[in-house]
Amino acid sequence: MAMNNIGRPTSIDGNVGEVVQTTSGSKGLLQKTELIFEYGSKDTTGVDIEDVTTGNSRLGNLARKEEINLPGLSEPEAVRHYVRLSQRNYAIDLGLFPLGSCTMKHNPRLNEAMARLPGFSDIHPLQPVSTVQGALELMHELAHWLTTLTGMKSVALSPKAGAHGELCGMLSIRAALDARGQQHRKRVLVPKSAHGTNPATAAQCGFEVDEVAQTHDGRVDLEDFKSKLGDDVAGCMITNPNTCGLFEPQIKEIADLIHSAGGYFYCDGANFNAIVGKVRPADLGVDAMHINLHKTFSTPHGGGGPGSGPTVLSEALAPFAPVPYVVKTSNGFDLIENETGEAAQAFGRMVAFHGQMGMYVRALSYMLSHGNDGLKQVAEDAVLNANYILASLKDVMSPAFDGYCMHEALFDDHFLEGTGVTTLDFAKAMIDEGYHPMTMYFPLVVHGAMLIEPTETESKATLDTFIASMRALAVAAKSNDKSRFDNAPHLAPSKRLDETQAARKPVLKWAAE
Ligand SMILES: *Cc1c(COP(=O)(O)O)cnc(C)c1O
Repeated sequence: MAMNNIGRPTSIDGNVGEVVQTTSGSKGLLQKTELIFEYGSKDTTGVDIEDVTTGNSRLGNLARKEEINLPGLSEPEAVRHYVRLSQRNYAIDLGLFPLGSCTMKHNPRLNEAMARLPGFSDIHPLQPVSTVQGALELMHELAHWLTTLTGMKSVALSPKAGAHGELCGMLSIRAALDARGQQHRKRVLVPKSAHGTNPATAAQCGFEVDEVAQTHDGRVDLEDFKSKLGDDVAGCMITNPNTCGLFEPQIKEIADLIHSAGGYFYCDGANFNAIVGKVRPADLGVDAMHINLHKTFSTPHGGGGPGSGPTVLSEALAPFAPVPYVVKTSNGFDLIENETGEAAQAFGRMVAFHGQMGMYVRALSYMLSHGNDGLKQVAEDAVLNANYILASLKDVMSPAFDGYCMHEALFDDHFLEGTGVTTLDFAKAMIDEGYHPMTMYFPLVVHGAMLIEPTETESKATLDTFIASMRALAVAAKSNDKSRFDNAPHLAPSKRLDETQAARKPVLKWAAE
């Protein structure tokens, strides 16, 4: 395989490609792509800028002395580079994206059209509030929908991702405990199956993480939970539906237990898509929960953002919510920016301005176009689709737990025992079938986990095609046909990468030879 000068595969080849060598390096309609630094040149530019002639720079000794070394490209070269890269990638607009825990669903184009309205996209966060009343009203309306859907007292809109929302919730809990003079409450109970961001957030806020065991049916072990309660407990962080794709039926009891022990209940709401419109987290005793707008409310994600993680808070935590937030006054809408007056107990501020305005517009557009009944159907169809996959594959793959699932189907690697094929091999072979792999090796409590979340936006026909591919792979593995798995993917632009090396010795910077 052709490598560039830092050992990355850059040109297109593979089983099929290796048979036919082309002069251009492109293969059919798939164009050869180098790293941008490899074909840019200093004397090419997409814009004509006059040389600077005024002599007196005010930069002093901060002025750059060396070349800036940006790759010079004409506009068509730059456009082609990124379009070519995008064609080597996978996207929800290309096909089913079964990445569990990520809720990769279709983003209706209506949301995009709304986000691009100039009144939303061309405003500046420092504009006087009198000139952005519409944007503030939209934030106020979104807050109303989020508190209504969750039954919670208030919402902090500003966190910029799920993990950031966790930080918001846990800082609110910290502030509430401090206000009660209970600084000694340091322990946070987190189930073993939790997403890695949960223990990381708790630790970041100065808490100690105490791991709670899981039962054989994939739920929180209530006896273990009870045994860990005490007057040094600050709260618990529980995901519902949990990361095994299962509803925690004892959630109300867990909430009552943590409350009577004097702690707070943080719910990781990343899986809200499975219960939106059906269950109100407030009714389960939740004190704080982040909502990933980029998961449940269909705003684009993958590839690093932007995200948005509004955090709903109970009556007990609402006074500690961060600034800024929008309020409705007799003259319209206003922003509470300072920790004074009604916001005197706010724990602080999480972002420079107000959060991800574009995501707010998309999320509200999604909510309004679905309505109450439509959002409820989202949850119902997401759960139905996941169960269809679970039921269709359970005779050839091994479900991690018995019974129905919520919005994602979880398998372990039991069905691969003795085949020499691993979960990783299986995932790579899915790439050859034209699918982005499911989430693998998470949750950690399930051996060789394969977590499949189809979401509600896939049709039965799409699911049937996916199921057929998965069945064929499972049957091939069991009948000892290893050719589809050894060194897979065979048909992708990039072959099997050395992921251990990539993690241990990441090459983060391009260097000329
Ligand atoms: C996605 C996810 C998070 C983190 O959300 P980000 O927006 O990626 O920061 C936390 N918990 C669970 C269970 C998740 O699936």
